[in-house]
Amino acid sequence: MVQLKRKNWILGGVCLLLVAAIAANFFVFANATSTRAKLESCVGDNYIKWVEFDPPYSALEKALKLDIDTYEKEPHISWIDVLAYLSASYWGEWSRYKGKDMDALAEKLANGEQIEQLAEKYEYFNYYREAYTAVLGGLVGEYQIATEESLSQPEPVYETKYGLKGYSPIAYGYSFSHYKDFGASRSYGYGRPHLGNDLMSNVGSPVMAVESGIITNLGWNQYGGWRVGIRSLDGKRYYYYAHLRKDHPYAEGITEGKLVNAGDIIGYVGMTGYSTTENVNGMKAPHLHFGLQLVFDESQLEGENEIWVDVYSLVSLLEKHKSPVLRDEGEKDYRRKYPFIDPCVEEYLQQHAEVEPGDDSTSQPETEAGT
Ligand SMILES: [Zn+2]
Repeated sequence: MVQLKRKNWILGGVCLLLVAAIAANFFVFANATSTRAKLESCVGDNYIKWVEFDPPYSALEKALKLDIDTYEKEPHISWIDVLAYLSASYWGEWSRYKGKDMDALAEKLANGEQIEQLAEKYEYFNYYREAYTAVLGGLVGEYQIATEESLSQPEPVYETKYGLKGYSPIAYGYSFSHYKDFGASRSYGYGRPHLGNDLMSNVGSPVMAVESGIITNLGWNQYGGWRVGIRSLDGKRYYYYAHLRKDHPYAEGITEGKLVNAGDIIGYVGMTGYSTTENVNGMKAPHLHFGLQLVFDESQLEGENEIWVDVYSLVSLLEKHKSPVLRDEGEKDYRRKYPFIDPCVEEYLQQHAEVEPGDDSTSQPETEAGT
């Protein structure tokens, strides 16, 4: 009897070891193929179902420089194409990134080779091109900005520029710190991942619209506190700015349905949220929660199909373009210093000139719990 028990113990131990060995192998295998498996399931019926955006800052910056340096040259190198090509070549594993890979690609493109032909061998180039266009499509282009000298004149004089036209979410002259906190766990309400980047700053730092768009969500949200949601004009991006200041969260004139320009002040950093009661400071420290959701299909606006991307490296890149602000004595609100014209806004207004005002079809439901 005693011997039998011992035998069973030994047998049990061997089985456990076997199971552990199989499990260990499985996890190694699962890790190596997880990105590939996700890629294979991400291009669903007719639209993209899944995006991870993780090029490092150094890659974003280098690709942006290539794009700007070749503007109005032949060929003009698109930063989105470069990033999509590299991501496809790495199977999405950006830990493999080396600057010389981008140099080699840039040289081929400069010599007249076509990106589509070069990328033919990469199965997911078109996927990354579409996914990265959705993330970055509104951030670089031509824009017009008032010259310094014309600020004292009755009418601003504009100069045309090309480059980063998206703005840092925090105004020029107001510091913030942030770290890679996408996916960190949050427990208020229910266990969930953090779906954005927290920009730690002082209460009252002016918050600007990163990209031009329509304000589709405004007011109190249990998780985000006083928040603003802005949909890009092409509909692909939904920007979420949360935990704005108690008592005076929004800049003057910020209303639902309003079209704002990149770099316009929308509100102020605070610490509201995590409360079903309005205007309550539920955060431990003042910060802006900044989130970016991609929308390839309207069914992805709310619920299980939401696609939020990591904006950490993007926020670092946007620090290159900060909007200075002014406040006249006696005024409660700041305003942007340099008047700005976004050609995409002009185009949108022309296209929608016939639309009846008050059409609120852009308004979206939301949970926005990823704060
Ligand atoms: Zn947050």
